[in-house]
Amino acid sequence: MALIVQKFGGSSVADATCIQRVARKIVDAKRQGNEMIVVVSAMGDTTDILLDLAYSIHPNPNPRELDMLLSTGEQVTIALLAMAIDGLGEPVISFTGGMSGIITEKVHKKARIQSIQPKRILEAISTGKIVIVAGFQGVTDEGNITTLGRGGSDTTAVALAVATQADQCEIFTDVDGVFTADPRCVARAKKLETIHYDEMLEMAKLGAGVLHPRSVELAQKNKVRLVVRSSFSDNPGTLICEDNLMEKVVVRGISMDDNIARVSVTHIPDKPGVAFSLFSQLAKKHIGIDMILQNLNHEATNDLSFTVSKDDLQDAVTVSQDFLKDLNNKGSLDVKEAVAKISIIGTGITSSAEIASRLFGTLYELGINIDMISTSEIKISCIIDSVNAVRAYEKLHAVFLE
Ligand code: ASP
Ligand code: MG
Repeated sequence: MALIVQKFGGSSVADATCIQRVARKIVDAKRQGNEMIVVVSAMGDTTDILLDLAYSIHPNPNPRELDMLLSTGEQVTIALLAMAIDGLGEPVISFTGGMSGIITEKVHKKARIQSIQPKRILEAISTGKIVIVAGFQGVTDEGNITTLGRGGSDTTAVALAVATQADQCEIFTDVDGVFTADPRCVARAKKLETIHYDEMLEMAKLGAGVLHPRSVELAQKNKVRLVVRSSFSDNPGTLICEDNLMEKVVVRGISMDDNIARVSVTHIPDKPGVAFSLFSQLAKKHIGIDMILQNLNHEATNDLSFTVSKDDLQDAVTVSQDFLKDLNNKGSLDVKEAVAKISIIGTGITSSAEIASRLFGTLYELGINIDMISTSEIKISCIIDSVNAVRAYEKLHAVFLE
């Protein structure tokens, strides 16, 4: 008998028909002899709708109350799914994050899981029940409800797989698996049979959208067998795993993220501690920073640029303005929202200059200027104007993957 954690995203449980379909899938898996823990997201766009509602009432909603509100989205789904499974004649019980024993740090809107005591889950499983858990939420040790950040249900699923020592964690979504590019943007994108954790982590971080990056990190650290597959078909999906049998360096995927913005503080003093003072304040506000670039100007001043997700832009701007004030307004602030990040991913990609040269050459041929570049062992990312993003995305896919 295998213990399986399945997770169904918002689009898989968007309405009553979808919930019935998901219920049948879960019951089928149970009747094949598996023990089932199921994590679900809020139905369809519920989280966005709740957020809009909150912002229509207050320009800057209290984070604790925002978590209180957003966590209700998942709570609706668990109850409805449990009813649907009950209707199919299988014993079932639903739990919120807190009831599942998911304890998080005391941070709202993007809390990290600190520990899980899955006592109630395991008890229910041992009596033959299917357990349905609300994704994306936990409680602090004081009992306040927290949420894990947008897309956080994936992380709930993997964390539960770790805590219960499940045999497999299956993430069900509206596409067939992990693709070489987003199939909604690049028609010729192909599904991958397998992908290495490292490559998947980069794809997830770079905005590929299929998995929450923290879920991949957690799966890799704990060697969880992680599968991404479609809730609308029985196709096998993509297995995210450890082996990378290919010695040849290849580009495995291309991703594009236009949900980012660039923030620059220019003409700031060139002396020790300046970057520290800005980034420590950003860290205190839990603002996720992606690329960082510093360039030297004349007259001993620097320009410092970084990218953030659009959700964090307002906070990043406030921190940067305060930072400049502390420098007696010696520098200035420059923000650009219409940027996109285009990245190519593959193990060992920066070990030769050949791939970088083809990337830059392709952008040059398209007449596209590169604002910022960053590299790691397995990716090269470029910031470009967002008007050029789709054109670059399609052309790079053709050059590297077709
Ligand atoms: N409902 C949350 C969101 O939309 C969490 C999730 O779907 O994973 O971000
Ligand atoms: Mg979602």
